[in-house]
Amino acid sequence: MDIYSEEHKMFRRSFVKFVESELSPHIEEWEEKREIPRWVWLRMGEMGYLCPWLEEKYGGTGADFGFSAILNEELAKAGVGIGFGLHSDIIAPYIQAYGTEKQKSDWLPACARGEKILAIAMTEPQAGSDLQGMRAMAVRDGNDYVINGSKTFISNGISADLIIVAVKTENAGIPGNKGISLIVVEDGTPGFTKGKKLNKLGMHSQDTAELFFDNCRVPMSNRLGEEGKGFSYLMEKLQQERLISALCSQGLAERMLSDTLAYVKTREAFGKPIGKFQHNAFKLAEMATEVELGRVFLDNLISDHMAGEEIVAKVSMAKYWIGEMANRVAYNCLQLYGGYGYMEEYPIARHYRDVRVHTIYAGTSEIMKLIIARTLGL
Ligand SMILES: Cc1cc2nc3c(=O)[nH]c(=O)nc-3n(C[C@H](O)[C@H](O)[C@H](O)COP(=O)(O)OP(=O)(O)OC[C@H]3O[C@@H](n4cnc5c(N)ncnc54)[C@H](O)[C@@H]3O)c2cc1C
Repeated sequence: MDIYSEEHKMFRRSFVKFVESELSPHIEEWEEKREIPRWVWLRMGEMGYLCPWLEEKYGGTGADFGFSAILNEELAKAGVGIGFGLHSDIIAPYIQAYGTEKQKSDWLPACARGEKILAIAMTEPQAGSDLQGMRAMAVRDGNDYVINGSKTFISNGISADLIIVAVKTENAGIPGNKGISLIVVEDGTPGFTKGKKLNKLGMHSQDTAELFFDNCRVPMSNRLGEEGKGFSYLMEKLQQERLISALCSQGLAERMLSDTLAYVKTREAFGKPIGKFQHNAFKLAEMATEVELGRVFLDNLISDHMAGEEIVAKVSMAKYWIGEMANRVAYNCLQLYGGYGYMEEYPIARHYRDVRVHTIYAGTSEIMKLIIARTLGL
């Protein structure tokens, strides 16, 4: 099944060229410095690679989701963190869907140009999988909200200019989804501080941070959508987030497999290429099968999503199974590199570290299974 048109394919070819010439040569440096510099965001914006799906009046080209899928897959294959996809295809859609005309025209064009970087802050130290247990709260005071609380593990947290913060606006601190709202906090707002850059196992060039709100006063006009509807907005938009996560897992699995196939054909032991040993050939055959299964399932899902179909069960299956599959691929591929796989100069070492989080963020594998079980009536 080929879900991509000629236009998509041309776009993929030119984006791959861009990645190879302008991003890949710098990845090691960004990993070491633990950040992607601002000029890269501006360059991505200039090339039209941020939020391409936005309407022209907001700086996009009205591109369909296929273009976003291509961007996310190719960035994952190149091993460029999740920051751009998160910004373009996970967070900007909240502003587009729930923002007022003023919010959209104030923020979205700058997002498309890479001048404003987005983050979304749901997770708290005491509430990750169980989002309804969040405690950060916003209390009305005149025409403002006053926000107190903290968030953790926030991707783009250090570089972000605009952060969509999920808070309780009612029954603050009481478990339950009633009264969750989404409020946009702008960097520099008094009472808002960014904590230290978190030191992660992998995805080193991707900044991840704690965020603190101490009597942070934000105009009520910064709320996205209706007060108290935040939880249902999150549940709706998490579907595309999980699809993007599955896409990135698949892209990385394909990259690891193709790198390893090239390696086992040239590395020799006992007088022959290591790929010729039956055990290794069988391992590669198993991986190639799983990667192909992932691809077919995923392309089907992308196609359903583009057709506007409901994908809750299938996207949870994809997020869980492809995320776990990519981790199996990482483990087995690294083994085939022997000691070289453990050396940082071989990309497989980085991919092995980076892929680990794919079964954790955007909803853990266990939470995905809970959702699937629910759709089975369990
Ligand atoms: C690198 C990184 C980037 C992230 N980026 C963001 C971001 O940008 N914004 C944001 O808001 N969050 C972000 N997160 C947070 C992420 O979404 C959470 O870490 C994730 O949802 C899990 O929550 P937790 O860490 O609190 O784990 P917990 O909820 O404490 O879970 C711990 C373990 O218990 C299991 N578990 C929990 N409940 C159940 C259950 N009912 N049944 C069975 N098992 C269960 C989990 O599956 C997990 O294995 C990021 C996390 C990481 C690591």
